[in-house]
Amino acid sequence: MNAQLQPAQDGNFRLLIGGKLVAGASSFDVINPATEEVYARCPRADLQQLNQAVAAAKAAFPAWKATPLAERARLLNKLADAIESHAAELAPILTQEQGKPLGGAHFELAVAAGNIRGFAQMDLPEVVLQDDATTRIIRQRLPLGVVAAITPWNFPVIMMVTKLAPALLAGNTIVVKPAPTTPLTSLKVGELCAEIFPPGVVNVIADANDLGGALTSHPDVAKIAFTGSTATGRKVMASASATLKRLTLELGGNDAAIVLDDVDPKEVAPKLFFAAMVNSGQVCLAAKRIFIHEKVYDAVVAELAQIAEGAANLVGNGLNEGVQFGPVQNRMQFEKVRGLIEDARKQGKVLAGGKEHQGKGFFIYPTVIAGLPDSARLVCEEQFGPVMPVLKFSTIDEAIERANNSEYGLGATVWARDINRALEVANRLETGTVWINKHLDLPPSVPYGGVKQSGFGVELGQQGLEEFTQIRVINMAKA
Ligand code: ADP
Repeated sequence: MNAQLQPAQDGNFRLLIGGKLVAGASSFDVINPATEEVYARCPRADLQQLNQAVAAAKAAFPAWKATPLAERARLLNKLADAIESHAAELAPILTQEQGKPLGGAHFELAVAAGNIRGFAQMDLPEVVLQDDATTRIIRQRLPLGVVAAITPWNFPVIMMVTKLAPALLAGNTIVVKPAPTTPLTSLKVGELCAEIFPPGVVNVIADANDLGGALTSHPDVAKIAFTGSTATGRKVMASASATLKRLTLELGGNDAAIVLDDVDPKEVAPKLFFAAMVNSGQVCLAAKRIFIHEKVYDAVVAELAQIAEGAANLVGNGLNEGVQFGPVQNRMQFEKVRGLIEDARKQGKVLAGGKEHQGKGFFIYPTVIAGLPDSARLVCEEQFGPVMPVLKFSTIDEAIERANNSEYGLGATVWARDINRALEVANRLETGTVWINKHLDLPPSVPYGGVKQSGFGVELGQQGLEEFTQIRVINMAKA
């Protein structure tokens, strides 16, 4: 075991409200999921502080909106620089609150900085829609006002900045509320923002899962950018209706991976494994139902089981060298995933993993389960953990029908040697993204989002930027 880093001291973390780093009205414990011990005390905002944060964002809006886009982009690039130059300080905090291995924490910070830079290159030019002898029509894209960003616990920093960067570039101000089990790195990014942006442009508060409703119903919030579960997304939508707030909802997924009969099992299995197990399966776009053609099923499944058995040695405290799979992030999710495994055991066969971890920490060994009907909970619910159900199919029509038979429609992957056949399958999948022979390739210039109950609106890309704007048309007579 490597030496553990010292827990952060109480008082190390501050809310950012109106340009000031302040203590919370009270505080709460953040648990390290690898040890189940208290890692740090987190400041907790009360309703008054939430209102102050929204008021500060509202007050900062007119001047920020009037700031040229190029200057807003310059400051965003400074934030990207600051995240990179503070990575050595931020990564262990992220590991100890979230559970992910240090390498994964550094990767998350690098992607976060890259996404900010990607947005900082974008522009929102006026577009001339018509220009003739009698008429000139211009379409403009204007900011909305105060944006509330509500983020989940799987990728706290990426999720935060992927909302913050486009919101700010477009001229909005923002109040960020991270998930209560992973608020600390977000508060640290708030500290970096305090050095860079004018007071009130960025505010970061933390709650004990009790302020979401107040934020999503606040009359001075114009838009909510939310990533989280479909169940909570429904509440956000209901709450936002009173003042017709704009919404981006990036919700749950139950992504199918479809493996065609011409794959090389040895080549495809490690990629499939990664697609399902990256971040210990806690990815909205993880492969969560693995459909494999009967011709290659046995060979692919044997490879997957072997990889999963080997990966058991790579599970552990993310601070330790060589660990590739951290714990599940919190006790509630840990119990949920364990429940799904126990339920699946009754109908299917555990081919790898599935055994209980002895000792502290919310660890679940990478688990492969075969022989389940599509009606099993592990297949039809979103597991959001390191457990992959492998399912056999006979025809492409059948695979597509089963893959589409879900209330979700976030992402999917197709694995095949013959790209044209893979493309035919991709064209029939009801999801926001389909990757072919790859997974989780999410460059900042490419939008992603869900269909059906995986949400609406997109993140990233020019379209992800435009989500934080409203259109104004100027239509003038020339003659
Ligand atoms: P989980 O993935 O654990 O189910 P949720 O979707 O409930 O997480 O949470 C995602 C984010 O939504 C968190 O920041 C959480 O605090 C916040 N949240 C929870 N309940 C509400 C609510 N009623 N309104 C707005 N946000 C909420």
